[in-house]
Amino acid sequence: MNKIVIDGSVGEGGGQIFRSSLTLSLLTKKPLQIHNIRSKRSSPGLKQQHLTALKAAAEISNAQVEGDFSGSQEVLFIPGEIKPGNYSFKIPTAGSTALVLQTIFMPLSVASRTSHVSLIGGTHVPWSPPYHYLEWQWLPWMERIGYPGKVELHQCGYYPAGGGRLSCVILSAESIMPVRVTGKGKLIQIRGISAASNLPRDIPNRQRQRFVGRLGPSYPLNDIRSAVLSGQGKGTFLIVLLEFEETTACFTSLGEKAKRAEIVADELVKQVEEYMAASGCVDAYLPDQLLIPLSFANGRSSIQTPNITLHLMTNAEIIQQFLPVRIAIEGNMGKPGKVIISP
Ligand code: ATP
Repeated sequence: MNKIVIDGSVGEGGGQIFRSSLTLSLLTKKPLQIHNIRSKRSSPGLKQQHLTALKAAAEISNAQVEGDFSGSQEVLFIPGEIKPGNYSFKIPTAGSTALVLQTIFMPLSVASRTSHVSLIGGTHVPWSPPYHYLEWQWLPWMERIGYPGKVELHQCGYYPAGGGRLSCVILSAESIMPVRVTGKGKLIQIRGISAASNLPRDIPNRQRQRFVGRLGPSYPLNDIRSAVLSGQGKGTFLIVLLEFEETTACFTSLGEKAKRAEIVADELVKQVEEYMAASGCVDAYLPDQLLIPLSFANGRSSIQTPNITLHLMTNAEIIQQFLPVRIAIEGNMGKPGKVIISP
């Protein structure tokens, strides 16, 4: 049956190994057996976000599944034909909707028809791409590679309440192009949003004011807006997109109880300043999220990253167990480097 067996404890040992394996199993139609799921986490095994990703992957492909319960550390996943269509999935916690969407986006986009996916859960939660990262950074890069789509935010969902809502239209993939991102070019502008839900209006205003006050004198800030967004539970965030001639980078700072608005802004300023001083071309999150799409490109890609993360190295290892692609990472972990993807 050509089953792929994955050890979920390698490298980063977290949820990404599980989600990437599901995506790759769907794309290659190879059955997956994965054990030691999230074994390097303090509460190992499947959590609600991963269970929803598994449910979604199974539903779009009529898969046979074993081990789909909370805390499960071993799963057998045998995918069937992928069926484009209209789907709704709900994470009953603040687990990240973006990570569930990313699991099924490519499999649905290589199907012959458009799909519509609605998701409920966290939209701006720690350790994951927030909604605006999907809209401003990940999807435009996916489109550039050949996987077009559109996302829409209906309601924000924060930790711990969750309950955010987003929807996504996934169009059929086109010819898949490699990318070469080895220079930034000139910084054209920095745009962004400072937003809050169910909190006093002055919080997003103060976050914006501090950020603009600190970076305005030396950077081309344009359209950093302050907004009140509908949301489930209380939450606040500040997100900016740096637009260069040849690339983009996206950074986020999330608020939390007892964290002052000025600190939220200062944390974002630090990320922007560190990025501007380093040699990478995109934010350090993007390369691990583009490895699977670029593994299907009709040519060699290279990306200069500001930071070689364990996520990046681990994802490269997993992908090479499914696909005949060579992913070379030049440089040392935690330092700037280059990723070369040769399908
Ligand atoms: P865990 O097992 O730790 O609970 P998880 O399933 O929540 O894991 P990870 O394995 O940590 O997820 O993967 C997180 C993903 O989110 C990675 O692809 C990472 O690049 C991305 N990510 C994390 N923070 C951000 C951010 N601020 N902006 C964009 N992407 C982010």
